[in-house]
Amino acid sequence: MEWTRTDTIALAASQCTHCHGLGLRLGKRGGSSPCSCVMRTIFRACYRRFRECASKEKSMTQVSLEYSGGQARRNTWGRKDEEYMADFLLVSKRTLTPKQYEIFKFHFLLGANNVLCCARLKMDKGTFFHQVYRIEESLGRVFRELRPFALFPLDEYFKGSKPEDLSELRMRKVVQMERTHEPLSSMVPLKKAA
Ligand SMILES: [Zn+2]
Repeated sequence: MEWTRTDTIALAASQCTHCHGLGLRLGKRGGSSPCSCVMRTIFRACYRRFRECASKEKSMTQVSLEYSGGQARRNTWGRKDEEYMADFLLVSKRTLTPKQYEIFKFHFLLGANNVLCCARLKMDKGTFFHQVYRIEESLGRVFRELRPFALFPLDEYFKGSKPEDLSELRMRKVVQMERTHEPLSSMVPLKKAA
C-alpha cells in the first residue's frame, strides 16, 4: 500500500521526534515510509477494540446482515465482534515470531504487567519494552495493510463488506490464479512479508 500524509497525519504522535507529527519519514533514496508512531496508534486502536469486544456479554454482541458475493448474491448473518476478535488473534499469531507471540500473549492477552512479564520471560525491562514496541509496530502495519479486508480503519471493518470490495477481490483472485495457476483455497488474510 502507498502511504500518504492523508493516511498518517491524524494518527501520528504530535511529539514524535522522528516525523514531527506528520507520520511520514523520508527514506535514504528519497521515498517516504510511515513512521512507527503511526503504526503504534493503529495497533492500540485495534487492541482497544479487541478488549471491548472481549469484555462484552455474549448476549450483547450484535448479529448483522452482510453482503456476500458470488453469483447467488446472497446475504449472510454474522457476528462482527466475534469475527473481529478471531481476525485480531489469527493475524497476530501469523505475523509475530514465536518469541514475540509469547510476549504478546502474556502482556496483551493475559494482561501481565512488565514486572510479571520480565520475570516469566526472563528478560530485562529495557528488552521487554523494546520488544513491545516492535510488536505494536509490526501488528499496526499489518492490521492496516491487510487485504482484502483490513482491520483498520475500524469503522470500515465493522461496516461490513460492500459489493465493490468483493468485485475488486474477485478480480484480484483471478489475476493471482492466472499468475500462479493455482486455485486460492479461501479468502484468508495475507501475511505481510517480514
Ligand atoms: Zn512519528
